[in-house]
Amino acid sequence: MQKPFLVFGAPQIEQAEIDEVVDSLASGWLGTGPKVARFEHDFAVYKGIHEGQVAAVNSCTAALHVSMIASGIGPGDEVITTPMTFCATVNAIIHTGATPVLADVDPITMNIDPAQVEARITSRTRAILPVHFTGRPCDMDALMVIAQRYDLKVIEDCAHAIETEYHGHKAGTFGNFGCFSFYVTKNVVTGEGGMVIARDDHDIGRVKMLALHGMSRDAWRRFSDTGFKHYQVVECGFKYNMMDIQAAIGIHQLARVESNWIKRQAVWRRYNAAFEESPVSLPADPAPDTRHAYHLYSILIDEAKTGIGRDAFLDAMTARNIGVGVHYLSIPEHPFYQRTLGWQPEDYPNAMRIGRQTVSLPISAKLPDDDVGSVIEAVFSVLGKAGG
Ligand SMILES: *Cc1c(COP(=O)(O)O)cnc(C)c1O
Repeated sequence: MQKPFLVFGAPQIEQAEIDEVVDSLASGWLGTGPKVARFEHDFAVYKGIHEGQVAAVNSCTAALHVSMIASGIGPGDEVITTPMTFCATVNAIIHTGATPVLADVDPITMNIDPAQVEARITSRTRAILPVHFTGRPCDMDALMVIAQRYDLKVIEDCAHAIETEYHGHKAGTFGNFGCFSFYVTKNVVTGEGGMVIARDDHDIGRVKMLALHGMSRDAWRRFSDTGFKHYQVVECGFKYNMMDIQAAIGIHQLARVESNWIKRQAVWRRYNAAFEESPVSLPADPAPDTRHAYHLYSILIDEAKTGIGRDAFLDAMTARNIGVGVHYLSIPEHPFYQRTLGWQPEDYPNAMRIGRQTVSLPISAKLPDDDVGSVIEAVFSVLGKAGG
């Protein structure tokens, strides 16, 4: 049996990150400073955009919220998103004062279905908020056509999708805004952290201002040595800026983003080969001319085929010391949304089924080959017990 417990989504922290954080602490510059600027620069280079198009913030939730505020979204507006996502996506919409509207996912890709999006557009719809779920790109061609036809903003939730590409373009560069997460379990980690990228420099200026109390842009440089500057509050903003301590970690994480992607791809392929003949459903292969970020490897446990229910499978894996995840119960399963928006899981049947059957297996770049073997053995051991 796997020993000790294999923690799901444990971050891969190396000496370079540790040294850089110590350097920040020793320098006394803890808040937003030169390392945030360097991380923004490096991220822009990685995405093939320029520095005026990026703004580091302290979470993806903050990135989504501030992008919507900068899009002019507020009370009376509707924003269409997917029921197969983390609650932060929907909560960020609610925090703008707008009303979230769900469009069910495609049963195979598990991404928002453009036909469902179009069916839910009303005169109040202002934006589409697609999530590149597990790192697989959404059907951006279709979504952008709809956005253009109805004059909607597009804000991409790229929390799983740093490395994702679609038809030669990088995730986050299709919409008005792309929002990224550097939470501990994500592909690039800063502890807590996020990034906004925008097509328009003007939009990033607004995001930076809103992310720091609504103080005029010069405020970002007001503690520099170029002379005292009074700041002016020009909007009621938020406290969403990233610290240098966070960026210190991110700079070195980002430098390894491609080598880690190759490692996760290898784990993904090993799982696919191992489970090909098993009764579990495997994630759909990446579509042609796209790049999957391989953030999550999620199988479906359909009790009719496997002889074991999803929740019993989760317990059995945990008992074998393998940490597993659920990404996610569909959003309408949660009581808050049922109570306040009247949502019911049955109204989004594809997301409901996926949410009730899905299990995420460990797929971190940190996973040694032996541990991948232990996960595979544990899956077969659990399925074998169920069958016999
Ligand atoms: C993690 C996640 C978020 C929130 O990211 P934070 O950086 O933790 O705020 C938003 N959307 C999705 C799809 C996520 O997985």
